[in-house]
Amino acid sequence: MTGTDERYIRQTTLPEIGPEGQEQLARAGVLIAGAGGLGSVTALYLAAAGIGHIKIADHDSLEPSNLNRQIIHSEAFLGQPKVISAAGRMKALNSMIRVTPVQTRITSANIDALLDRVDIIVDGSDNYETRQVLNRASLRHGLPFVYAGVRGFDAMVSSFIPGKTACFECIVTGQNAPPVRVPGIVGPATGMAASFQAMETLKLILGIGKPLENRLIRISGLDMRIHCVNLSSNPQCKACGQICNPDKRL
Ligand SMILES: [Zn+2]
Repeated sequence: MTGTDERYIRQTTLPEIGPEGQEQLARAGVLIAGAGGLGSVTALYLAAAGIGHIKIADHDSLEPSNLNRQIIHSEAFLGQPKVISAAGRMKALNSMIRVTPVQTRITSANIDALLDRVDIIVDGSDNYETRQVLNRASLRHGLPFVYAGVRGFDAMVSSFIPGKTACFECIVTGQNAPPVRVPGIVGPATGMAASFQAMETLKLILGIGKPLENRLIRISGLDMRIHCVNLSSNPQCKACGQICNPDKRL
């Protein structure tokens, strides 16, 4: 048994994955858009699972108020770029994968370059504008967008698949987006959402199970209740409407 075989045996022993699935994971490229609370957990799980290439993009530096939930980082990195801290921890966890830290604010101007050799976009952002950029890039490039949002004790997750499901902007528009402020968040709410995201990402790469397609999971941490809401495309959507109407510009 080689080191690689042994490392992943607790997942390759699953019939849904097997050695072939492990090779699929090793060939996959994922963009984690943000090295905050969500990105902290998705980055660790996806690195541990052996995703071959993970790009992690974030423009921020680490602040003390991040540390209640952004568990990929540590006090020693306060004041330093989050992507450097995150990439170092991911490589320490799994030296067999490639990690590309990109210290940048994700915008419509740089997202296309960030998606070079990427198969799935994982949302680790905390604002509507960035999610809109990610959603439109997902539609343009035909890449799944694994969305999550967290507030207080609550979390929600869905997978938006271009051409197959509603998109992020079918559900959330600039008008009904939550106001920009500094919301309170407990760490486990972020961890729950991000664990769901990591599970969705593995499933989408492997083509197994039933991803959250046209379904949105809402987790209430205080009541410990999970609801699943069915989603449908908004025919008036300014983003994915282009799939039916190529005259509309993204
Ligand atoms: Zn849409």
